[in-house]
Amino acid sequence: MTETSLTFIAKSTIKAADLDHRRKINFNIGKYNEKVPEGKEQFTDVHLARERAKNIKWRAIETMDQQLEAFELNFSKRGGKVIWAENSEQAIEEVLKICVAKNCKKLVKSKSMVTEEIHLNVALEKNGIESVETDLGEYIQQLDGEAPYHIVTPAMHKNKEDVAKLFHKKLGTPINLTPQELTLVARDILREKYVAAEVGVTGANFIISDIGAVAITENEGNARLSCSYPKTHIVIVGIEKIIPSLTDLGLFWPLLSTFGTGQKVTVYNTIVSGPRQANETDGPDEMYVILLDNGRTNILKSPTQRESLYCIRCGACLNACPVYKNIGGHTYGTTYSGPIGSVISPNLQGMDEFKHLSYASSLCGACTQVCAVKINLHELLLDNRHESVEEGLTTFTEKMSWKMWKFASLNRSMMNIGNGTLKNKVVNGLFKGWKQHRTDLDFSQKTFNEMWRERYKH
Ligand code: SF4
Repeated sequence: MTETSLTFIAKSTIKAADLDHRRKINFNIGKYNEKVPEGKEQFTDVHLARERAKNIKWRAIETMDQQLEAFELNFSKRGGKVIWAENSEQAIEEVLKICVAKNCKKLVKSKSMVTEEIHLNVALEKNGIESVETDLGEYIQQLDGEAPYHIVTPAMHKNKEDVAKLFHKKLGTPINLTPQELTLVARDILREKYVAAEVGVTGANFIISDIGAVAITENEGNARLSCSYPKTHIVIVGIEKIIPSLTDLGLFWPLLSTFGTGQKVTVYNTIVSGPRQANETDGPDEMYVILLDNGRTNILKSPTQRESLYCIRCGACLNACPVYKNIGGHTYGTTYSGPIGSVISPNLQGMDEFKHLSYASSLCGACTQVCAVKINLHELLLDNRHESVEEGLTTFTEKMSWKMWKFASLNRSMMNIGNGTLKNKVVNGLFKGWKQHRTDLDFSQKTFNEMWRERYKH
């Protein structure tokens, strides 16, 4: 076992027994569960809508090279600059280059999982640039020195008392502030940051090929402020976020909001197609879009795993997953947690190091059932397991155990040796690890053949 998998098991064991954590998560996810069915009512046929979205993403991913090139061409026409980054190092290098050119000391950033993936804030801080998260949930997490806990709701594991305590400790506010008062405190602080920042960084929910623009979805308006106040706007986005046409947003926007939070449509939906034009009064002087690969083309290579690139990061699979609800987001030790994280992380960050995530699933299929774009998540988890065996990443003991199991299962006379008491003794004695969190296996006293003969003896 790798160090990463041992850490995962140790953390999971602690978290799964943490009832306070479970209560907070169930409370917050419960609120979404109440709202999502209401949001779904806006679709005449929600299954058809999901199917259509999957087809659009299929087309976008199958023609990704052409779609991205068309995006670059169209975006450049309006004065935007596209930068292609193969990995996080290249993306960071490009951001720093721009920051140096703009003499940037302060930067505002809206919520973006890709910037978490490349650890942008750490790099900026190392280079003497203050980077402030402007999404309230992300701001809370930044104050606490923690990574986001959930891809949609970064501070899902905190209740209002936790946040009031955190603000009291870090910002000196009274300990008993209400959520509304806490929001106003954050708003006051952040307003000044927008005005002072030389550069604004955002992610993007969609890259729109035919008009050369990016679409950003949010509930607080902070992303709009982050991209319109500073003189330079940098978008960092994974290449899989491509969609062919502006008209596709008519489907993707309501799907994303309904499956993410239960809203019919998210409060602020912005399409940004370049820097401020000559006849416009608002917007940045310069706009860059960094198209990040960082392992995504590895996923593209695999005919089966390619489907995971359809993900629109709605977070529904996390909310439905019994494993996520018990062990929480941070336990995964990856940027993307929950079922989609367990599918893509081994392929983005290395099968050897992260294959254990694909095994941390009951394969109940709840994730597949709720996925906004009908990704067969549980089958992709199985596919990862298969891949890891094919790559020879299993231990000698595991290989031998399965060989023995296969041999015995295919050999009736061997299965019939001994009675239930003997089998219980041998198997429960051998598989101590299996029993650590489970009751003993209890074999039938009679073999299958004995029972069959008894049943059909007449
Ligand atoms: S895999 Fe599906 S359910 Fe999970 S975040 Fe992506 S789109 Fe949403």
